Amino acid sequence: MHKSTTTVLNQILLKPSFCRQISTEFFNQPLNFVNGVRKTPTSQNSDEDFKVFNPAKGEVICETVSSGVKDVDSAVQAAKDAFPEWSRLSGFERGKILMSVANRVKERGEELAELEVYNNGKPIWEARVDVQSVIDGLEYNSGLAPTISGQQIQLSGGSFAYTRQEPLGVCVGIGAWNFPVQIAGWKSAPALACGNTMVYKPSQFTPLSAILLAEIYKEGGIPDGVFNVLQGQAETGSLLTSHPDVAKVSFTGSVPTGQKIMESCAKDIKKITLELGGKSPLIIFADCNLENAVKGAMMANFMTQGEVCSNGTRVFVERSIKDKFVEKLLAKTKQMKIGNPMHEDTMVGAMINKQHMEKVMRYIEGAKQQGAKILCGGERIIPTDTSLSNGYFLSPCIMDNCTDDMTVVKEEIFGAAMAVLTFDTEDEVVRRANDTKFGLAGGVFTSDLTRGHRVVANIQSGTCFINNYNLYPIEMPFGGYKQSGLGRELGRSAIDSYTQTKMVYVEMGDVDCPY
Ligand code: NAD
Repeated sequence: MHKSTTTVLNQILLKPSFCRQISTEFFNQPLNFVNGVRKTPTSQNSDEDFKVFNPAKGEVICETVSSGVKDVDSAVQAAKDAFPEWSRLSGFERGKILMSVANRVKERGEELAELEVYNNGKPIWEARVDVQSVIDGLEYNSGLAPTISGQQIQLSGGSFAYTRQEPLGVCVGIGAWNFPVQIAGWKSAPALACGNTMVYKPSQFTPLSAILLAEIYKEGGIPDGVFNVLQGQAETGSLLTSHPDVAKVSFTGSVPTGQKIMESCAKDIKKITLELGGKSPLIIFADCNLENAVKGAMMANFMTQGEVCSNGTRVFVERSIKDKFVEKLLAKTKQMKIGNPMHEDTMVGAMINKQHMEKVMRYIEGAKQQGAKILCGGERIIPTDTSLSNGYFLSPCIMDNCTDDMTVVKEEIFGAAMAVLTFDTEDEVVRRANDTKFGLAGGVFTSDLTRGHRVVANIQSGTCFINNYNLYPIEMPFGGYKQSGLGRELGRSAIDSYTQTKMVYVEMGDVDCPY
């Protein structure tokens, strides 16, 4: 959006009536959070202004500017200044603070969930699940913090060597819009547990929940400068990834942006973690429990309006049960309640924005033209509640008779559009499942345990499910094979990715020198 330099932006957020518990002060302050204080972004470039929407109403809730060079410098400097003291605490001390933060998130969790609904459009019950996973991440990493340690190895003559697991320094987190608070929590909890400090940039579409999270972190005892939030778009992101004082970038988003970030980080050999896109397979064998397989396919496709990176959007069903499977799936899908995401019984909320909704609709239209049969959905829904008539609601779509060469089977759609394909043999389906540049997730439904394990062993993906889908225990690593990413989040793996190993040799005798 271009504006004249004299235009005054409305940087005050509209407060929705359902966010009763969040103070008006929260909405009336600027959107950056640097060194423990809310600050106004100061981009000099008017092309970098952006509007923030409430997707359920299709209304602008504020307009702001992207953070520019000065904002990035001051946030990185704040994180750099906070690093020595934070990193010198013992893991146990940092763990206690993270636990106190977890408790504070529990107390203010409903506020975070409501804010997420307001800005992302997902149903409230899902937003609560996301907040719970932030709490889980904080609790889990608070337990791991005191265990971060090195090894000691005895060498000859009484000498010995040991390793230290040291933090990296200032880490940058950059997030996508589909799980705004969860991504901020999943990146910051292990980073901070290891003694790093962080500058986090949420997606320009969902800037709000990270600010509240930062305020809660401060209330829980995280010192100023340890966790900072900067708002902005691509330009702000690239200022952060190219900043010489940044040691590591952890990114969640699309493959093309991931490639740019990798290039930018290559200049300084910065450490990177990339959590990127997917087009994951879900394989349903004839011997499965059909009820569970139908539920699994829905879990794999319809949460957060289908805007989930790990979704199993290529549903391969063994030919002999395809018709029965589709019949049950269709009946259940048609029952999903679409509408006000703040209602407890809503199953499908609003898509992130109009452009994205229309993109998903174009994909579905294209599938029709390529020969897919649309069994249901893919249509814009105008809720009877007139306050939501401009919201971005799309009915969940099932596309039957799909083939591997169709665009909807090859490309990530990032909406509730499930492609149903048929197969005849295990070898065939595994080959077809792996015929993609992505490798984020995959799943199999079967009652044959041997086959279940065999199939997931042959699927080229970082996460696999047997007889369920889209569950992410905080203790287990998450990340992609092939173009779906690099490195892992969650579990012990996240600790490895936010620390570096130093070897220390200790000589107990004289120097044995040939000179
Ligand atoms: P995106 O790549 O457009 O943007 C992601 C973030 O990168 C945003 O904050 C954006 O402002 C920032 N950005 C854009 N250009 C940048 C640049 N040149 N340098 C630095 N930062 C830059 O992705 P999106 O549309 O927000 O999210 C959707 C994508 O994210 C999908 O492909 C989805 O699969 C993926 N995703 C992956 C995971 C995972 O864990 N693997 C999770 C959620 C989403």
